[in-house]
Amino acid sequence: MTESDGRLAGPSVDHGAARAGAILTIDLDAIVANWRFLNAKVAPASRCAAVVKADAYGLGAARVTPALYDAGCRRFVVATLDEALVLRPLLPEAEIFVLSGPFSGCEEEFPAAGVTPVLNSTEQIARWRAAANRLGRPLPSVLHVDTGMSRLGLCADEARLLAGDAETLAAIRPILLISHLACADEPAHPLNRKQLEAFRSARALFPGLPGSLAASSGIFLGSDWQADWCRPGAALYGVQPTATGDNPMRPVVRLDARIIQVRDVDAGESVGYGATHLARTPGRLAVVAAGYADGLFRTLGNRGCGYLGEHRVPLVGRVSMDLVIFDVTGLPNELATPGATISLIGLHNSVDDLGRAAGTIGYEILTSLGRRYHRHYLNGSPR
Ligand SMILES: *Cc1c(COP(=O)(O)O)cnc(C)c1O
Repeated sequence: MTESDGRLAGPSVDHGAARAGAILTIDLDAIVANWRFLNAKVAPASRCAAVVKADAYGLGAARVTPALYDAGCRRFVVATLDEALVLRPLLPEAEIFVLSGPFSGCEEEFPAAGVTPVLNSTEQIARWRAAANRLGRPLPSVLHVDTGMSRLGLCADEARLLAGDAETLAAIRPILLISHLACADEPAHPLNRKQLEAFRSARALFPGLPGSLAASSGIFLGSDWQADWCRPGAALYGVQPTATGDNPMRPVVRLDARIIQVRDVDAGESVGYGATHLARTPGRLAVVAAGYADGLFRTLGNRGCGYLGEHRVPLVGRVSMDLVIFDVTGLPNELATPGATISLIGLHNSVDDLGRAAGTIGYEILTSLGRRYHRHYLNGSPR
C-alpha cells in the first residue's frame, strides 16, 4: 500500500499511483463535514462521538481520527483494546471507548493507557470491579444494556440488580449508559419504539447518567432516539443512513481501477473462470487490475458494473483474485485503453450501490477494502 496527499479533480496521477493497479481516494474533509453535519443535526441536546472501529471502516483510522480531532471531536469508539492502543497517542485529549470490553487478564491495561471499556455483561463488571479494588481506586466505564438486540449488554433484570449495588457502582463508576438499535435503518419497524422505551426504563435506574442509543441510522429516527450522545460510524464514511430519499451524507470514497488490457472477443467466446459469461456478439473487453483480494466480492460476478467516464460498463464473468473484466463493447478506443481507469465507487456508483450489487451492504464493502490500493487522501492535515 502507498499513500499520498493533495487535492485532485480526477483519478490520481502521482508516482505511487502510477505503479498501483487501483487508486482508493479518501476525502478526509468529507468525513469531517459529515461529522459536523450530524453533530449540528443532534444539537443542542445531543453530541456525536465518532465510531472508528475496524480501522475507521477500512479507511485508515490513523488518518481519519486526527482529522476528526482537529474538527473538535473528543470521543472515539473502537471495537478492541488493540485498536484503542494504536489511536491513543494520536488523540491526546480525547476519550476512547472499547466496545468489546476487557478480556480476562487485560483489565489493567485500560487505565494504564487511559482507555475506557464498555462493560457488556455481569462477568465483565465483576472483573472490572475486582481490577478497581486491586488498584484501590474507582475505574470509569461505559455501561451497556440490551434493549432488543440480544447481542451484548445487561438484560433488564441484571441492570436492576446493578442499580441496587452501590459498592459495585462506586468501583466501576459508569460515565455513560449505552444501548444499540437493531432496526434503525427501518424507521417504521416497531422494535425502534420498543427499544426506546426499554432504554428509558434502564436510564431511570441510573439517574443522572448520560445516555447513548443512536448510531448512524438511529440519529434519523428523531430527537427521541438521540439522547445525550450519538455514535455514528458508517454515515461519517458516506454510507447512506436513511432508508429512502437522497443520501444526506457527502460521499467519501472513490475507487478507480486501471485497465491492463483491452481485447476483442468473438461471438460465442467465454469469459473468465467457469466460462460463466458468453459473448453473444463480437465485442470488446477491458481487463482491470483489482479483484476479490482487493475486496471486490465474488458475488459481483456478472452482476456488478463500473463506469468508464460517463459510460456504465457491466462486469462480465467471475471476479478473479486480482482481476475483473468489463464489457466495453462499442465505446471509443481512446476511452477504453490500457492505463485508463474504470470507476468502481464514484459519482455514478455509490458504496451502497456496490454493496447492493454484491448482495451485501456498504459497511461490508468499506471494511473489506484491500491493502493493495494506492491510498490517496484528500485534504486533512498530514501527520
Ligand atoms: C458499530 C457500532 C456503532 C456504529 O454504527 P453505524 O451504524 O456504523 O453508525 C455504534 N454503536 C455500536 C455499539 C456499534 O457496534
